[in-house]
Amino acid sequence: MCGTLYVCATPIGNLSDISDRLRQTLETVDLVAAEDTRHTGNLLRHLGISKPCISYFTHNRRGHGEVIIKELLAGKNVALVSDAGTPAISDPGEELVQLCAEAGIPTVPIPGPCAAISALSVSGLITGRFVFEGFLSTQKKGRMDRLAELKNETRTIIFYEAPHKLVRTLADFEATFGADRQITLCREMTKLYEEIIRTTVGAALEKYTAQPPKGEFVLVVAGAKQKEESWENMTVEAHVAMYEKEGLSRMDAVKRVASDRGVAKREIYDAVMR
Ligand code: SAM
Repeated sequence: MCGTLYVCATPIGNLSDISDRLRQTLETVDLVAAEDTRHTGNLLRHLGISKPCISYFTHNRRGHGEVIIKELLAGKNVALVSDAGTPAISDPGEELVQLCAEAGIPTVPIPGPCAAISALSVSGLITGRFVFEGFLSTQKKGRMDRLAELKNETRTIIFYEAPHKLVRTLADFEATFGADRQITLCREMTKLYEEIIRTTVGAALEKYTAQPPKGEFVLVVAGAKQKEESWENMTVEAHVAMYEKEGLSRMDAVKRVASDRGVAKREIYDAVMR
């Protein structure tokens, strides 16, 4: 029988975010596949756990991925961890999970910190529908092409960014989304200098141009405003129905339509009743 790949989220700063389940999983697996074995070695030492580790990162993912799959097929249980947060989210892991899926190897999530979701949860922006973009391309053209595709995105958009590229990215946001677009910058979450800054793209650009940013950032950008449907092309009935759908009573909807069209309420009321 083959083993299981446990995809383990680890703290994004504060070690108190280590869950009991993460600890138990690391204690019981046979092998830990780590983005950086030294970094994960510190985490294991903190937990008093001694385990064989194998490195698994972008540039050795093919070769080491095969070794890890062989171990799993031989019945070993493996924990996959990245340096911080959830593996496979702008971190190594996606391909290993795909290989497991192809080989019929069970994969189990050990949920925990994820910078994107932590930032979204405190952004103060709409959280019901969102898109995760991770890091933008370091190439100007790739970056601007991607942003152009997102210009009219109405869902909240989440980006990761390194501090030394923040000002450049905010300038690109301003060129694409406009200076007035709402943005929440989540800096150093769960750490000593944690900051949640709810502002506009223009104001953030001004702030960090004057005072170079430090630390890790997640940028949560408000989606574009939905274009209001123009009532000019609607029948009077559809115009009234639009306001009723927004929650207005029939009489209030009639009043609003009369005001929009600059006609008497009676005229609208009669048209609807007909
Ligand atoms: N897999 C990780 C996760 O689940 O969040 C993300 C890894 S990605 C390589 C690292 C990026 O995540 C950073 O550049 C930053 O944008 C964001 N990040 C990670 N920890 C953070 C923190 N404590 N505060 C703010 N952003 C953080």
